[in-house]
Amino acid sequence: MDHPQKPLMKAQIPQLKLLQDIDKQVFRWTKERRDKPRALDAAEKEVAAKKAEFDARSKDVEAVKKEVAKREEDLKEREERRKRLEAQRDQSKSNKEYQGYNFEIAAAKAEGGKIEEEILKMMNAVEEAAAKEGEAKAVLDQAAAKHGEAKKVVDAELAKIDEEMRTLRDRRAAAAAEVHADYLKMYDRIHKAKVDAVALAAAIKEADGWHCGGCRMDVNFQEVNVIMKGKDPVICRSCSRILYLDSQPQAVPAK
Ligand SMILES: [Zn+2]
Repeated sequence: MDHPQKPLMKAQIPQLKLLQDIDKQVFRWTKERRDKPRALDAAEKEVAAKKAEFDARSKDVEAVKKEVAKREEDLKEREERRKRLEAQRDQSKSNKEYQGYNFEIAAAKAEGGKIEEEILKMMNAVEEAAAKEGEAKAVLDQAAAKHGEAKKVVDAELAKIDEEMRTLRDRRAAAAAEVHADYLKMYDRIHKAKVDAVALAAAIKEADGWHCGGCRMDVNFQEVNVIMKGKDPVICRSCSRILYLDSQPQAVPAK
């Protein structure tokens, strides 16, 4: 379907090559943009590990504090018991009864004293646990700060890539506008299908004949002939890339 204004295939090769160069850069930046955040993986893992450590130390503090509260409750109970016994003692009807209460009161006091000592020891444990929690917090903060610094660097790099990509998008639009719609459609279809985003391949002449520069498949004489004539596109039978001759003159684009 030859529209009279449709340029020859070979006349469009320079425009397609320019498009290909831009697409290769877009491909590189896209990959880099995707891979960049991985630079933060180690720092992120470190923060998560330090956070887990800090959480464990916080739980330790809570556990010891809970234990203290429980013992304080016990102490209160003994105090109330002692007061109750003292009130009962003061209502005593006999000396024997009075002495009996005194005996129980002394026991309650002794128990209270023991619990008080326990609580004091436990307060030391609370302090120790709190100190360890504080240390873990400092380590976590340090890891978080380090991650923050690394993220700043990565974010700046990503912003730079985004800027480059914007420029490339404009350049690509301008380059694509120079390619006839039929060729552009073909190019884009191949370019999108290739994992390396490369749609063009030079046919290379070697001692044993012509080869596709993209996949090394041989290019036969008839195909070379069509490429040289430059009227119709020739697609590599193996990798489906558009074949061109590297040596062909950089023709002025027909518009
Ligand atoms: Zn090929």
